[in-house]
Amino acid sequence: MNFNELNLIKPLLKAISDEGYVEPTPIQVMAIPHLLEGRDLMGCAQTGTGKTAAFALPIIQKLTEEKPKGRRRPIRALVLAPTRELATQIYRSFMTYGKYTPIRGVVIFGGVSQVPQADALYAGVDIVVATPGRLLDLMNQGLLRLDTVEVLVLDEADRMLDMGFIIDIKKIIRELPKKRQTLLFSATLPKDIVRFAGSILNNPVSVEASPEMPTVELTEQKIYFVERIHKIDLLKHLLENSEFFRVLVFCDTKYMVDRVETQLNRFIQDKKPSGKQNRRSRLAEAIHSDKSQRARERALDRFKMGEIQVLVATDIAARGIDVVDIDHQGQVE
Ligand code: AMP
Repeated sequence: MNFNELNLIKPLLKAISDEGYVEPTPIQVMAIPHLLEGRDLMGCAQTGTGKTAAFALPIIQKLTEEKPKGRRRPIRALVLAPTRELATQIYRSFMTYGKYTPIRGVVIFGGVSQVPQADALYAGVDIVVATPGRLLDLMNQGLLRLDTVEVLVLDEADRMLDMGFIIDIKKIIRELPKKRQTLLFSATLPKDIVRFAGSILNNPVSVEASPEMPTVELTEQKIYFVERIHKIDLLKHLLENSEFFRVLVFCDTKYMVDRVETQLNRFIQDKKPSGKQNRRSRLAEAIHSDKSQRARERALDRFKMGEIQVLVATDIAARGIDVVDIDHQGQVE
């Protein structure tokens, strides 16, 4: 199947072709026709399956083809995501796929000044991609109204529930029109998600997709059994002796993330004859929820550009991040 058979409009086909996509992924084939018909959808899918385009393309098409009444630009699509990084990634996807259409969007998350977000809302946007906490905050200040939303997407719903966003999400949904299209994506389908989905979806189609190749086929996996105190030494040894160019390390606490980052950077400094610290000579950077948004974005960008070799992260901060060419991932602790 190719994209032409999915009944997508020309501006979308052109943007997809600019991205170099040749054919739709399975979840895109399964979801797009139903979403173009306006159906609700329950998607069991992880990052890496192409799920963002699966929902973004039909949403942009709907917003472009059906013009709103009235002069002001109402918010017509709302996407909720658990983390700032994922929200930013989704927003960028919307802007990439919608670059030949007139749609406008904003990404909203906490930890940064609300002023640019409020300004964008005031100027008018069609699509809001947001983490629940800051969105609710702006709603409480009367800076946006959601009674014009036609499509709601909950992405990584299982993670949003794990992170305790359920009350915020319910408050947000209460402000939406009852008549709307609702899409829920989740990597796992525990009972609470199924129950929650049942309460917000109306006669949904269900689609399920795993990444194009299961992890085991894409990735060679190894496990080393070591005493806790030797883990960091093993990591240094692996970094030193193998061809590990871009490495993602997961720790289960923010404290451990900071410790591993510090120890790896000290390790590389000790190896330098001058012992001088500069940004370029850093080996690792850390991301977790106590870091400022700017610091997190900068670390992720430097990692993507290959300026640092190791990104150390808590599982939650790194969830859903799409970085091309990661050669190694490891779990410390
Ligand atoms: P997602 O699962 O939405 O996070 O997407 C994972 C990656 O797949 C992203 O880098 C997308 O740009 C890419 N992608 C999405 N759809 C396609 C497609 N049809 N062909 C090739 N790459 C795609």
